[in-house]
Amino acid sequence: MSSPQSNEHKVDASWIGWFVGMIGNEFVCRVPIDFIENKFNLTGLEYFKETLDVVLEPLFDRSVAWVSGYEEKLYCMIHARYIVSARGLEDMRLKYERGDFGSCPRFYCKEQKTLPVGLSDNQSNEHKVDASWIGWFVGMIGNEFVCRVPIDFIENKFNLTGLEYFKETLDVVLEPLFDRSVAWVSGYEEKLYCMIHARYIVSARGLEDMRLKYERGDFGSCPRFYCKEQKTLPVGLSDKWGQSTVKIYCPSCKDVFRPKYRPKLDGAMFGTSFPHLFFMEFPMLKPQPPVEKYVPRLHGFRLHESALMPLESSETLTEDIGSTSSPSSFPN
Ligand SMILES: [Zn+2]
Ligand SMILES: [Zn+2]
Repeated sequence: MSSPQSNEHKVDASWIGWFVGMIGNEFVCRVPIDFIENKFNLTGLEYFKETLDVVLEPLFDRSVAWVSGYEEKLYCMIHARYIVSARGLEDMRLKYERGDFGSCPRFYCKEQKTLPVGLSDNQSNEHKVDASWIGWFVGMIGNEFVCRVPIDFIENKFNLTGLEYFKETLDVVLEPLFDRSVAWVSGYEEKLYCMIHARYIVSARGLEDMRLKYERGDFGSCPRFYCKEQKTLPVGLSDKWGQSTVKIYCPSCKDVFRPKYRPKLDGAMFGTSFPHLFFMEFPMLKPQPPVEKYVPRLHGFRLHESALMPLESSETLTEDIGSTSSPSSFPN
């Protein structure tokens, strides 16, 4: 019955149905009425009877004046209790398997599904648009990471040493009045521009341009909660064209992530060395490593490492302990 990534929120007339169905509330679990009506589950919570009545309201009308704003808080406190109950864990498992909580943006986690613990962030993007090919390319949605390489840098043949390209391709890249519908666009322009771009951003001027983009937040911020929205830099996992798309590097946790908006840009246009050259050039911009680290807890107690291991490895562990009499069956 479960289809991947489908958010089918049942919309009904109840307050809970409205709250669970709200855009942005995909993480929220539907707490059954009987769980809320069981006074035992509300032990220790402070609330007005009227607030509880709104939460339990089967025919909720948003325009009605008796909505106090406390409903959300009350529901959330009950929600926190429900999702660790047997039924709630089962509901959350369904949501987890359906992908309701999204997936890990860390590149090396390979889209591992996540569980909710954190908050989301905002990001602003502004793109300049002009009539040139470069203006068009830099202004394209999804190309916010791309730096505008100055014409004189491209026209300097020294900067193109070793690059293979057709003169026609270079002419398109340098075109001041670019018309997308024109037939002479070969598709090689992007590759040529990207290879020049990789050289430009490690030049003195290019590093300065990238610093402006970095400080403006063009490259987004680290998705790790404890990195506190540390600004990131683009990085390639290869210097060769066509190997992988651009990733972002967080200078605080020193890890790489998938960019939030998944640009289709080739990683080679930034290269593997860029963030490191950047911080060699601007050491004063280097942030401190994160002070806090996520500690898994169950009802306030730290979890033992083994509780966090995947099932197979804990089985292997048990087997290992049980078979100490015959260590020969476990070659190293
Ligand atoms: Zn991960
Ligand atoms: Zn980070």
